[in-house]
Amino acid sequence: MIIGLTGGIGTGKSTVSKMMRGFDWVVVDADVIARQVVEPHEPAFEAIVEAFGDDIVSEETGTINREKLGRIVFDDEEKRERLNSIVHPAVREAMKAEAEEAKDYGAEVVVMDIPLLIESDLFHMVERTVLVYAPEEQQIERVMERNGLTEDEVRARLRAQLPIEEKKQRVDDVIDNSGSLEELEAEVSAYVETIHNLLA
Ligand code: ADP
Repeated sequence: MIIGLTGGIGTGKSTVSKMMRGFDWVVVDADVIARQVVEPHEPAFEAIVEAFGDDIVSEETGTINREKLGRIVFDDEEKRERLNSIVHPAVREAMKAEAEEAKDYGAEVVVMDIPLLIESDLFHMVERTVLVYAPEEQQIERVMERNGLTEDEVRARLRAQLPIEEKKQRVDDVIDNSGSLEELEAEVSAYVETIHNLLA
């Protein structure tokens, strides 16, 4: 079974993905793949250089200078869309390939960790979805603490995402992370058991 794992900033998705690995589930991380597909010799690398010019390649490392590229697309929607139209399909293909490989090696469950699964409408990539949930006020507290940001800075980041209460309505399952880490571990353990029972 391919499960799509998502959350909102600071709800605890990374923590849950680590815990799932602890239960021997394979987790394919969209953020990691997104960095891999733009490495030199990967197809997306050539396409990006063609679209944005040699200047975005670091002379020192020969890799794409992510900060520079980020600045170029930051406030230019057309360029951002152009970049996304190169990177997103490459990420999706690479994630699917990795999931298939894991299945070939006998994995019964493959988790695709996709931060913006709902916003990007990637339901077709997975068979079931699970959201790591924490109330918005807790998201804000945790991100302020983790990233050393002010409340306003966190609220600005939250505005780029669908509100967590709305996400909750769109998924099959919810892992509640409004309690302690011990309680979260119990939630994840119960979820793993639920899925294993479904597959049995
Ligand atoms: P996400 O990946 O969803 O942005 P993280 O897993 O990084 O969220 O969690 C956000 C922050 O909150 C991290 O610093 C993490 O250690 C902390 N955290 C997550 N869950 C809990 C919890 N149940 N209790 C205390 N701190 C938590």
